Amino acid sequence: MSFTVNSPPTVRHFPLSRTSIGRTPRVTMVARSNSGVSVSTATALPILTKLQHDCATPLPVLRHVADAMATDMRAGLAVDGGSDLKMILSYVDSLPTGNERGLFYALDLGGTNFRVLRTQLGGKDERVIDTEVEQVSIPQDIMFGTSEELFDFIASALAKFVKKEGGKFVLPNDRSRETGFTFSFPVKQTSIDSGILIKWTKGFAVSGTPGKDIVACLNEAMGRQGLNMRVSALVNDTVATLAGARYWDNDVMVAVILGTGTNACYVESVDAIPKLQGHKSISGRTIINTEWGAFSNGLPLTEFDREMDAASINPGEQLFEKTISGMYLGEIVRRVLVRMADGSSLFGKHIPERLRTPFTLGTPNISSMQQDTSDDLEAVGSILYEVTGMDSNLAARKMVVEVCDTIAKRGGRLAGAGIVGILQKMEEDSKGIVFGKRTVVAMDGGLYEHYPQYKRYLKDAVKELLGPKISSNVVIEHSKDGSGIGAALLAATNSIYEH
Ligand code: ADP
Ligand code: MG
Repeated sequence: MSFTVNSPPTVRHFPLSRTSIGRTPRVTMVARSNSGVSVSTATALPILTKLQHDCATPLPVLRHVADAMATDMRAGLAVDGGSDLKMILSYVDSLPTGNERGLFYALDLGGTNFRVLRTQLGGKDERVIDTEVEQVSIPQDIMFGTSEELFDFIASALAKFVKKEGGKFVLPNDRSRETGFTFSFPVKQTSIDSGILIKWTKGFAVSGTPGKDIVACLNEAMGRQGLNMRVSALVNDTVATLAGARYWDNDVMVAVILGTGTNACYVESVDAIPKLQGHKSISGRTIINTEWGAFSNGLPLTEFDREMDAASINPGEQLFEKTISGMYLGEIVRRVLVRMADGSSLFGKHIPERLRTPFTLGTPNISSMQQDTSDDLEAVGSILYEVTGMDSNLAARKMVVEVCDTIAKRGGRLAGAGIVGILQKMEEDSKGIVFGKRTVVAMDGGLYEHYPQYKRYLKDAVKELLGPKISSNVVIEHSKDGSGIGAALLAATNSIYEH
């Protein structure tokens, strides 16, 4: 793309969002060379060119990533610790069919909020009769408290929610309530209804839980609340998404989360899991949680990725996640902009401190900037000014949009290659199982949902890799909030009662 700017070097700069009303950003004056390219743009251009080169994902790179994903999956299935991919057994052997009936609960703990949900299922004809959801935020002191405090807090919120049960929600007299428990922290699962917490992540520092069975912790806390309820399925959010999507569509074979972090799971044949010892599955199939965020083979990384990784709390880990997920895309862009600002007067002489602060620029910001189709990129200017304090002229804004696009394109295309890797592995094991018929990949997460260019790049990469014929059978479908109902459905399929 050319950076010859024909419009005047200064651009009128209108604040766009409500928060910016009343503040008029300064406009930078930029010297211009005879060629019409502003001097500052010309010095930043090599940084962009190198970035685009280093982030390039032509077909051979995508192919390598897809093949390596398939190979790493196999290695992780062979033995524990056999590859970057943990390939964790979910113990979910039976997926929802649509015949589920009765009242089931779900509890989702995965971040600063937790959600409780109840659903009344009416089998094939009536399907989901009614659903109610409540969200509760977890106070800071609970996130840093003791295990008992946390689980008592959860159980007490759940007890309050249960008290409001009524209307279309009916529990047969002789039964206990059953709940699915979506728990998005690293767990060593030991059965469908038990799992040992390996460590807290995402800002949780609750003492006393690591090494303990979290289902036992919750069951005990529910007992202390006098709550007549048991956990019948402990699942990860990806697995719950797959189950939720599968309830409506029997062709769902893979689920992918692209939100703050990323992960994927899929339906695997038990015969293809050498490390599986003594685990019997009546269906002959089980869901594997890949933990693909840890994938690292052959990724096109830049100096900016390496610096971000080195400064992270987990250097050398979660490299795929750091390249493709929402927590990091904005931060990579910010690091590139700092380099451009330091090396040129592209954003004026004074570089605001805010631009130098890690994680000031979020992925939602870079996504919003890419949606600006105006001639003078007003929204880009406003976002840059509001979020980082930077002034910009049109040339600088164009450059910023190119940087955002480069990082989103690499992320989306690599995520697409990862999906193809999973499908390819399944197909290699059993010819025709995914490519010979309609196959659905259920997608969820804020990044996938709210970043249209990212989504487009992901789908394009899948098409490029599979070719027109096979890709016409592969449906990549957004399954919004399937994970809540998915966990309740897994409580139903793993119920101790016949239904
Ligand atoms: P989580 O992954 O924390 O469970 P979500 O699935 O809702 O939550 O994803 C939230 C993430 O999605 C945010 O951290 C952000 O990276 C990304 N995101 C949210 N809104 C947008 C947006 N408008 N454009 C791009 N990415 C977004
Ligand atoms: Mg989530």
